[in-house]
Amino acid sequence: MQYISTRGSAPVLGFCDVLLAGLARDGGLYVPEIWPTLDKTPNANYANRAASIMAPFVGNEIDVKVFNQLCIDAYSTFRHPDVAPLVEIGPNEYLLELFHGPTLAFKDIALQLVGKLFDHVLKQRNERVMIVGATSGDTGGAAFDGVASCRNVDIVMLYPNNRVSDVQRRQMTTVMSPNVHAVAIDGTFDDCQDLVKAMFNDEKFRDANNLSAVNSINWVRVMAQVVYYVTALEKLGHSAVFSVPTGNFGNVLAGWIAKQMGAQIDGFVVASNTNDILTRFFESQQMIANEVVPTLSPSMDIQVSSNFERLLFEMNSRDGAATAKQLKDFRMLGKLNVAPSIFTNWIAGVFTGYRCDDEQTLTTMKDVYQKSGMLIDPHTAVGLSAARQSKGTNYPKSQSIITLATAHPAKFPDAVRRATGQTPVLPEHLADLMSRPERIISLPNDLQAVQTFVAGCR
Ligand SMILES: *Cc1c(COP(=O)(O)O)cnc(C)c1O
Repeated sequence: MQYISTRGSAPVLGFCDVLLAGLARDGGLYVPEIWPTLDKTPNANYANRAASIMAPFVGNEIDVKVFNQLCIDAYSTFRHPDVAPLVEIGPNEYLLELFHGPTLAFKDIALQLVGKLFDHVLKQRNERVMIVGATSGDTGGAAFDGVASCRNVDIVMLYPNNRVSDVQRRQMTTVMSPNVHAVAIDGTFDDCQDLVKAMFNDEKFRDANNLSAVNSINWVRVMAQVVYYVTALEKLGHSAVFSVPTGNFGNVLAGWIAKQMGAQIDGFVVASNTNDILTRFFESQQMIANEVVPTLSPSMDIQVSSNFERLLFEMNSRDGAATAKQLKDFRMLGKLNVAPSIFTNWIAGVFTGYRCDDEQTLTTMKDVYQKSGMLIDPHTAVGLSAARQSKGTNYPKSQSIITLATAHPAKFPDAVRRATGQTPVLPEHLADLMSRPERIISLPNDLQAVQTFVAGCR
């Protein structure tokens, strides 16, 4: 399997090089040359099923048995035997619980595997990399947990100061491994992401520091997320719509890929909080960036959804130059239009967007608690609210909808308490998190300052 860039002018690479590169050299994102077809061999456990679903993407770059073992190791850190259990909460209403990993968010599912893969490939090549990334809260902790034990990796994650929850911050700042660095930036998540992009676009800096990325721009993140869409439907036994609480569009893109591969997915509800650029896009066929507003679901406080580029590339019939131009214009003008015929072919009937403000988020959390005694986190609530809004409008009441439960409620205790009066309990391995010592580093929203810091971490 070979990989090409969405902007059309980066070298074609194999799986392991794509893993290490993160972002393509032309600023684009890597995608496989073709979408493979799913095999039909359910019944295996999650790790084995994951290995066989992902095998065509890995190709012959990693031995099949070795890759299977890496999957087993990655998913052995999960607290639930199903890894991603499917839970029925009402008539035709399901949650896919993706938060049973070490840092309590769905990002563990990809990043536990990414950590094992980095370790394997870098050891084999005897290389060392510097991972830099931006986090809206959950990627940082999940990435640290995934790679802290990798001998050949240093990692710097930028997060927006005061815009992540205490639990999220502590999951980064209490990791004491010397190769791991969390940096609070005086700005928003999009500012952090811009700093990371600027470091990658500075070729001299990128090469001198051997930069790598584990943000959801890294193909392997998206690839690992394809798996649970497939396994959820295998458990359910029939087709369904997925409602996906969305920020960078990585998770929903993984679902779209599962559908390309043949998974029986009836459509996607793209759920946004007040930062609703995608909802407005689905309504108006025009993407217009606004200011980021802080909400109760901080991991979705994003205006520019970086993974949308991969879908845009498909919508442009895989024309990299056209995609690059469209994105350059979007950067300059803050506006992106899609032709009506393209919208009809690619978006209509597949994606619908719904927004859910903080009040609706709390109402949904409260409703679930009152009806079932279950505590859900605010991101999951955004997804569930969107799923419920789509019934009776886009879908009939009888439509099965699986909402992705992207975080454990104990990751966002303040919101859970506000909605339900209950305090969710952290799982045992994190019980003393709030009393562990922190290592806090802060920097201004300034490229030079950040580059100096990163270069000093090697
Ligand atoms: C990252 C994250 C999201 C958004 O996922 P994307 O892949 O960026 O769309 C939603 N919920 C939680 C809890 C997250 O950590």
